[in-house]
Amino acid sequence: MSVFTLPAFDGHEAVHFVSDEATGLRAIIAIHSTALGPAAGGCRVWAYENEELALTDALRLSRGMSFKNAIADLPLGGGKAVIIRDPAQRPSEAAFEAFGRAVNQLGGCYITAEDVGVTVHDMECVARSTRHVSGLHAAGGKAGGDPSPKTARGVFHGIRAAVRAQLHRDELAGLTVAVQGLGNVGYQLCRELKAAGAKLVVADINAAAVERARDELGAQALPIDQILFAPADVLAPCALGGVLNAETIPRLHARVVAGAANNQLLTSDDGERLRQHGILYAPDYVINAGGIISAGAEYLGSLDEAAVWEKVAAIEDTLTMMFEQARNSEQPANLIADALARARMQRARGQTQLAA
Ligand code: NAD
Repeated sequence: MSVFTLPAFDGHEAVHFVSDEATGLRAIIAIHSTALGPAAGGCRVWAYENEELALTDALRLSRGMSFKNAIADLPLGGGKAVIIRDPAQRPSEAAFEAFGRAVNQLGGCYITAEDVGVTVHDMECVARSTRHVSGLHAAGGKAGGDPSPKTARGVFHGIRAAVRAQLHRDELAGLTVAVQGLGNVGYQLCRELKAAGAKLVVADINAAAVERARDELGAQALPIDQILFAPADVLAPCALGGVLNAETIPRLHARVVAGAANNQLLTSDDGERLRQHGILYAPDYVINAGGIISAGAEYLGSLDEAAVWEKVAAIEDTLTMMFEQARNSEQPANLIADALARARMQRARGQTQLAA
C-alpha cells in the first residue's frame, strides 16, 4: 500500500503508524498541516475493513481539520487519528493509554480529542500518558468537556443560516428536518430542532436511539436506506461520510443539506452537483466546527465557556457570508470555503518563511 499516491493524499506533512503489542493497539495519526499551529483533530475508533480504508479516512479527515480550523480562525493546524478496532470489542483503557504515549512522542505537533466511537472517559485514559489532549471533563466555567453539544449547536445555527439563504425563512418552526444518525451530535441536534418547532424524521442503525427519538421528541422513524431521500425541507447527515455522491444527489428531496458528519461529499465535485440540482449545501467542516472551537479553547486556555458558546453561534454569520459569496459567484459554497481556508494557510506559511 502506498501513501503518497493515494487519492486522499494532499501533501500531508506526516503520517504516523502506531502499534502496541501489549494492548493490540493499531492506529494511524495523520498530520495534514501545522501552518497555523499544532495539528488538532479528534481520534476516531472504527472497525475498518482494511488498512487502506483506515489510512484514507485519516488522510481525508486530517485535511478537513486543517480547513475547519482555518475557517474557525483558530491558531491550530489539522490532524486526525484513527484507531482500527477489533469488531468484537472496544479498545481497552490500556490501549487508549498506549495511544496517549504515541501522541506524546509527537511532542505537541498533534493534539487529540474525541471523534466517532470515543468518549470523554477514553480521552481521560489518553490524558494519563500525554497532556496533548482535550475534550476532558471541564469545571468552573472553563471551556471544554464533551465537544458534541457545541457541535450540535453550531449545526443548528448553520441550519438557520442555510434556511434563511435558501428558503427565505427566519424560523425553523413548521419545517421538516431529516436527521441521519442519532449519536452524540445527531440526538442533541434533534433536541435543539424540536425546541425550535421543527418536525423530525430520523434514522439510525441503532434501534434504541431511534426509539428514544420517537418517544422523547415525537420524531418519525424511517428505514436507514430512505432517510437521505425523505420528503423534508432540510437533510442533516450526522452519521458518516461520503453520503452525497452521483448516485444519491439526484434522489434528494431536501433543498438544504446541512449536517454534522465529516466528509459528506464523496468528491469535491459533488458540491457542484448539489448546486446544479438546486440544493444549498453547508460545507461540513464549517458547520461542524463547534466541537473543535471548544476543544481548541480548552487546550489553548484561550476562551472561557461563555465565549466558546458565542464563537459557536457565530458559525451562522460565517455561513451566511459564504452563501452570499456562493450565490454572487455562482459557485458551490464548499469551493468558497476551500479557497478561504487555503488562503489563510498559505498566508501563515508565507509569514513563517519570512520569519525564518
Ligand atoms: P456517534 O458515533 O456518537 O454517532 C454516529 C451515529 O450514526 C450513531 O448513532 C450510529 O449508530 C449512526 N450511524 C452509523 N451508520 C449509520 C447509517 N448508515 N445510517 C444511520 N445511522 C448511522 O458520532 P458523533 O460524535 O455524533 O458524530 C457524528 C458525525 O459528526 C461524524 O461524522 C463525526 O465525525 C462528525 N463530527 C462530530 C463532532 C463531535 O463533536 N462529536 C464534531 C465534528 C464532526
